[in-house]
Amino acid sequence: MFGSSGACAGCGNAIPATELVMRAGGSVFHQKCFTCSKCGNQLVSGDRYYLLSGSPVCETDWHKIVKSSSVAAAAAAAAAGNGGAPVRKGKVGRPRRSRE
Ligand SMILES: [Zn+2]
Ligand SMILES: [Zn+2]
Repeated sequence: MFGSSGACAGCGNAIPATELVMRAGGSVFHQKCFTCSKCGNQLVSGDRYYLLSGSPVCETDWHKIVKSSSVAAAAAAAAAGNGGAPVRKGKVGRPRRSRE
């Protein structure tokens, strides 16, 4: 999952080896690109987020999505440990160098 490339999953641009990155679900993001795909808020260390088909969503928006769509079913399946659902839950860690 790691090392697919040095490209940011948010903007698609290459990430210099010296730049701090966020990792989530096997993807890397520029710190500034690790934002909620719904409201655009930057997700920072300590925030909870959900990965919806590889795109981070903040907890607030996630709850809105769950209330209003069938994604809830997938989330429930994921929560039940039913692997393979396109939703992953996580907590934002500390930014790291793209290469260590
Ligand atoms: Zn980026
Ligand atoms: Zn949001």
